[in-house]
Amino acid sequence: MRIVLLGAPGSGKGTQSKLLVDHYKIPQISTGDLLRAAVAAGTPLGQAAKAVMEAGQLVSDDIVLGMIRERLSEPDARKGFILDGFPRNIAQAEALDRTLDDLGQPLGLALLIDVDLDVLMQRLTGRRTCESCGQMYNVYTSPPKLDGRCDRCGGNLRHRADDNEETIGNRLRVYDSQTAPLVEYYRRQGKLRAVQGVGEIEDIFSAVRKVIDDVAATPAVAPA
Ligand code: AMP
Repeated sequence: MRIVLLGAPGSGKGTQSKLLVDHYKIPQISTGDLLRAAVAAGTPLGQAAKAVMEAGQLVSDDIVLGMIRERLSEPDARKGFILDGFPRNIAQAEALDRTLDDLGQPLGLALLIDVDLDVLMQRLTGRRTCESCGQMYNVYTSPPKLDGRCDRCGGNLRHRADDNEETIGNRLRVYDSQTAPLVEYYRRQGKLRAVQGVGEIEDIFSAVRKVIDDVAATPAVAPA
């Protein structure tokens, strides 16, 4: 199954993606993770992206599309994938449709994880990630047992550089103006489904799985 996960920053896309990877054995492709890896490695691409990311703005479509095309052509993406954080605007969505058409592998589903703005703000300011194993925590809603240490591997917990209040405000505004229109874009294609992204992670995951399994079991229909 080829899936785009849609949702504002803090909606839980990353968490749900990781659970989906384990369950369906298909890769998660996160442009945010790919960009952060490029920044950490100090590549020219990473150097170009760093300041833009820290300001909470979108990295140029050229950079992101180049990265995505390369990633989608890797062998593990042939059995399906979960796109997390991509596309972020209509131009990226159209480019994705063209790329997948060329590959003869159309998108199966755009799944929106829907969360109210005040909840998003609390989640984003409290978010921490383990530097070693990637496990995610939230100091308000799912804190680690020991402050600053990962329960799973003992690694250091890190606050993402773009999870401060000013940048978060920018990221939410960018989502509203550029990414939210994708909901309508995929609705028109007949590919949009939504789940409420509030509550226990496991319950949200059950709802997500149900949508995916329903769509997988339904023969493709022409868009309205
Ligand atoms: P994320 O981890 O998805 O929240 O992404 C973190 C930051 O990386 C974003 O605020 C953007 O600066 C950049 N980024 C990630 N994905 C994209 C994308 N598809 N297009 C443009 N910029 C992106």
